[in-house]
Amino acid sequence: MVIHGGAGTLVKGLMTPEKEEEYKAALNEALEKGYAILENGGSAMDAVETAVNNLEDSPLFNAGKGSVFTNDGTHEMDAAIMDGKTRDAGAVSLITGIKNPISLARDVMDKTDHVFLAGEGAMRFAKSLDYTLETPEYFYDEHRYQQWQNIKDSDKFELDHSMKKEGKFGTVGAVACDKSGNIAAATSTGGMTNKRWGRVGDSPMIGVGNYANNKTCAVSCTGSGEFFIRGVVAYDVSCLMEYKGMTLVEAASEVINKRVLEIGGDGGLIAVDAKGNIAMPFNTEGMYRAFKTSEEKKEIGIYKD
Ligand code: ASP
Repeated sequence: MVIHGGAGTLVKGLMTPEKEEEYKAALNEALEKGYAILENGGSAMDAVETAVNNLEDSPLFNAGKGSVFTNDGTHEMDAAIMDGKTRDAGAVSLITGIKNPISLARDVMDKTDHVFLAGEGAMRFAKSLDYTLETPEYFYDEHRYQQWQNIKDSDKFELDHSMKKEGKFGTVGAVACDKSGNIAAATSTGGMTNKRWGRVGDSPMIGVGNYANNKTCAVSCTGSGEFFIRGVVAYDVSCLMEYKGMTLVEAASEVINKRVLEIGGDGGLIAVDAKGNIAMPFNTEGMYRAFKTSEEKKEIGIYKD
């Protein structure tokens, strides 16, 4: 099981040791919750949903509760989940007030014949399933509010984890391989601070910010979404494995350290294959990340090494 909490300009020394510990504890909790499901014979799908739910409930990450502010002062969230065994997928975009967007994405997959619901229609779908709507206060966070205040009168929109100051960062994601060798990926985000005009990033787009296929890999991305969209990043990792015979690690590194960089994109991804191999490349200073394997190998990291 591998999870991430966003990649960006996470420079050593800018965060207090206490803050670092807070992030690591939050990552650890989500990792262990997801891993416990795998250990008990549960599915990769349940494991990634649970881990992402956990990260969505933390105010530390840019997803669910900790989502960034849009130009209108609201929170618009995107999420996607995909099952590598069946290649079923569900995604939602531009939703507001939903505590756990990844669960709504899963409901799109499980309870409709569609893959992707957006905006007002996605909200009507949520209401039809009796999702409770959280008030704006639930999503309010002083730090995120200040991030937005600093740029709200400009045309700028920014990755919340690319600022050279201490802060709360991160789109979240999880990938997992279960005991049956099935893999799955889930990604959830508040997008970019000060985004407007119904901007949608890579995270909810199947094959871009999120993808899973038992034949190749399960991938969850984080970074400057516009570049990831143009790079069709998650599917590109899968294609390099399928068509070029690359290993998971080779393919993931080729995409993040070469192809995305070539078009000017910054960010990273986490990936697993059906044999339980893992990759976590990023071309930024850091990426909140954690993994645990069935050989009891476990690591929680923020910076390059
Ligand atoms: N990729 C996300 C987006 O562009 C942002 C992030 O990774 O934090 O919406």
